Amino acid sequence: MSENLFSILKSRFPDDLTKTFIQAGNGQTFSYADMLARSAQYANVLTRLGLVPGDRIAVQVQKSTEALMVYLGAIRAGAAFLPLNTAYTPAELSYFLGDAEPGVVVCRSSRLDDIRAIAGSANVETLGDGGEDGSLLALADAAPTAFKEADLNGDDLAAILYTSGTTGRAKGAMLTQGNLSSNAEALATTWEFTPEDHLLHALPIYHTHGLFTATNTILYAGASMIFLPKFDAEETLSLLPQATTMMGVPTFYSRLLNCEGLTRDSVEHIRVFISGSAPLSPEVHKEFEFRTGHAILERYGMTETGMIASNPYDGARRAGTVGFPLPGIEVRIADADSGKVLEQGEIGGIEVQGPNVFKGYWRMPDKTAEEFRKDGFFITGDLGMIDDKGYLNIVGREKDLIISGGFNVYPAEIEVAIDELPGVAESAVIGVPHPDFGEGVMAVVACKPGVNLSEDDVITPLGDVLARFKQPKRVVFVDALPRNAMGKVQKKELRDKCSETFQKPGN
Ligand code: AMP
Repeated sequence: MSENLFSILKSRFPDDLTKTFIQAGNGQTFSYADMLARSAQYANVLTRLGLVPGDRIAVQVQKSTEALMVYLGAIRAGAAFLPLNTAYTPAELSYFLGDAEPGVVVCRSSRLDDIRAIAGSANVETLGDGGEDGSLLALADAAPTAFKEADLNGDDLAAILYTSGTTGRAKGAMLTQGNLSSNAEALATTWEFTPEDHLLHALPIYHTHGLFTATNTILYAGASMIFLPKFDAEETLSLLPQATTMMGVPTFYSRLLNCEGLTRDSVEHIRVFISGSAPLSPEVHKEFEFRTGHAILERYGMTETGMIASNPYDGARRAGTVGFPLPGIEVRIADADSGKVLEQGEIGGIEVQGPNVFKGYWRMPDKTAEEFRKDGFFITGDLGMIDDKGYLNIVGREKDLIISGGFNVYPAEIEVAIDELPGVAESAVIGVPHPDFGEGVMAVVACKPGVNLSEDDVITPLGDVLARFKQPKRVVFVDALPRNAMGKVQKKELRDKCSETFQKPGN
């Protein structure tokens, strides 16, 4: 059988193709048969526009059912799908298009002139914001509704996703058919998805979480989803009674906690809530369980690897941990410099090997070589340890590690301690240049509504729980932490803002 991702997913579609695949927020439904016909139309259009397997199609459009059909059409035709965050400016796009050299670029109608100017010889087509018009849509309307999937190997390219890379040039992670299909299978099995599942999908689809983790898993299970253009806590709450599962970033869960209507009754039909892409604070985990009776299932992954580890579906879901490696995936903790594998309980770099690990960075062989060990393990850049129960704990990104007075300070440990203090909504701990210590530990704290804390209110109680070198020397207060759309705290932004803190006398 062809190892084309779509062929593998298709072999698992329900026999009754009139079954719903997508339910839009307005209640309109789109069946498996509709999806097969529509994605075939896009596959035919892309082939006619000249794409052959391995060619790239770059897409920067709003989330819509049509946009998802373009993704499936591209996979069927064997074109490598390159989704781009809708927030990227033309200047940023110019780098991605120049680097990836796509044969087709799909953009929002309002961006057409800007994109034409930077797209080189690519065909530029448009898709309207709700997916209701645009030149690509018109071409698809006129195309045949059947398409035979390109015959591909597991190692053939399926997608290129540029990683956010806070320093240096963004890198295009090359994901293969096999990377995506193996991860869909591992997740559907581990999280026990069945055709009866109805997933609430409010994630963006330019990122691995919403595009692959959520969508491919649903297709692999022959299940369905409520497909929302964006996350809105009240809207989500009103739709949860129709869903059986939800996948979200931690901010989805903290925002749901702000809704009075979040009760046990409101989530009666939900079988599992899943969280990832950024750390879920143990406080949110605890409060969510108290309010709903559900222990959120936290998992860990990244663009280059898809999902790596997950808390168990059956068994204890331990707050502050990301559980065990998924089936077929190996995780180890190694010394960042020497690569020596470390013992249980020791903190080091998280390294991973398995069918999920990407093929390398697009046109960056040297960068790729730097991030793999000789025995094939990928160096994730995250720091972690395996605890006494065998669960993987993430203690932060290597580049966020603070070295103060020669001691390693892992931000996650301090953030957890601060988040437990009364009146704290969320916190981020960063290291900034310090004349004596090299780096000084600083905390950025957002208080709960109506609460005013002082620096002492935060620092003094930490004296009982943290060694002195870990305690923040300064605390600054903000209304909310800066986060990107995936809920990741933008620590570089905080470090830049606070870089002078310890340079002033008296600090
Ligand atoms: P991305 O490539 O945008 O998906 O980002 C991947 C990074 O997000 C990982 O390398 C981790 O640093 C972080 N991440 C993902 N899931 C989790 C999690 N459950 N807990 C902590 N960090 C996470």
